[in-house]
Amino acid sequence: MTTFNIAVFEGDGIGPEIMAPTVALLTEITKDAPFDFEFQTFPAGAGHYRDHGVALPPASVEGAKSCDAILLSAMGLPDVRYPDGTECVPQVEIRMELDLYAGVRPVFVQPGQDVPLKSERVSEIDFVLVRESTEGLFAPSGPSSVSDTEARETMVITRNISEKLFDFSFKLARRRKETGRGEGRVTCVDKANVFPALAFFRKIFEERAKGFPDIATDTAYVDAMALWMVQRPWDFDVLVTENMFGDILSDLGAGIMGSLGLAPSADIGDDHAVFQPCHGTAPDIAGKGIANPMAMILSAAMMLEWLAESSPVTELQTHGETLRRAVSDVLVGRSALTADLGGSANTQEVTKAVLDAFQARVG
Ligand code: ATP
Repeated sequence: MTTFNIAVFEGDGIGPEIMAPTVALLTEITKDAPFDFEFQTFPAGAGHYRDHGVALPPASVEGAKSCDAILLSAMGLPDVRYPDGTECVPQVEIRMELDLYAGVRPVFVQPGQDVPLKSERVSEIDFVLVRESTEGLFAPSGPSSVSDTEARETMVITRNISEKLFDFSFKLARRRKETGRGEGRVTCVDKANVFPALAFFRKIFEERAKGFPDIATDTAYVDAMALWMVQRPWDFDVLVTENMFGDILSDLGAGIMGSLGLAPSADIGDDHAVFQPCHGTAPDIAGKGIANPMAMILSAAMMLEWLAESSPVTELQTHGETLRRAVSDVLVGRSALTADLGGSANTQEVTKAVLDAFQARVG
């Protein structure tokens, strides 16, 4: 039996409401597996900042670093701010602390799924947005960046992180090609015609591409990509982009899928990885027990597949894939959907439906 230690950050708002059933689901589906999980919960979040004056305690970061993977729900509360007026977002700080440069945001639509785009081709949508997550326009600008007459932000693009980001994206495209999920193509999304920093980003992309002759490449400006993601999202395989552009395009990706409540993500570095839904803490529905847990569950499925990459336990991969398919079964069968997807089920009912679908698949 292989045991994986999983750090859990329950977060704020709907965070604990989607984390608890996900942890229970993971415990249930590993009952007969040759691996299991030991979950350790660490304090962090906007609520923790309000009550204790620190959003991301160093002891929580150290504890999480010692685990095999990190599950994080959502953090932030609209009325809890740092003294400079910015929102308290420890999930962004954790990406910086752990050097999680590759933000992986899959966008996919299952046959029969009801989505906003109306086209016969919607069920062909299956691409991954890789958002650089430690620098770009999210790089700290420092307290002197805002005066009473002027405000400036700094975009940071480093060769070191960009090389790792592009290599990660090419390898991801290769894995997708090998498993029949993609054609083996990476598109660099930038604004190289306006920002010298992004011309540098594109130059490094083209340099690294030479090391992956089996992968096709192209480039696109971010404004055009926003248009194409609506007009022909089925044409893309792996998109790689700067932090801020990735932040915006990943919400567009969630819109293509039909709801933010469906969009999973992983933030991956050389030594650590955090798995969390793309959505925020949804203060408008917090406390009602009606949040959609699917993005959290799909993020947990990504964790299983990521753990499988460095483990001989093959069931990690198959369980991850089965969990992903179980969510699709519930979506397509419309057996239990929350209000964001037009249903009336609550969080517990959706989780139970996913568990039933998982068990039906494994027989
Ligand atoms: P952040 O800035 O932290 O990313 P946000 O401002 O984008 O957050 P969210 O908290 O993600 O906002 O919520 C945006 C909308 O999506 C809200 O109406 C919210 O209720 C809805 N939403 C987000 N997540 C879920 C979910 N899991 N289930 C149902 N609805 C959700």
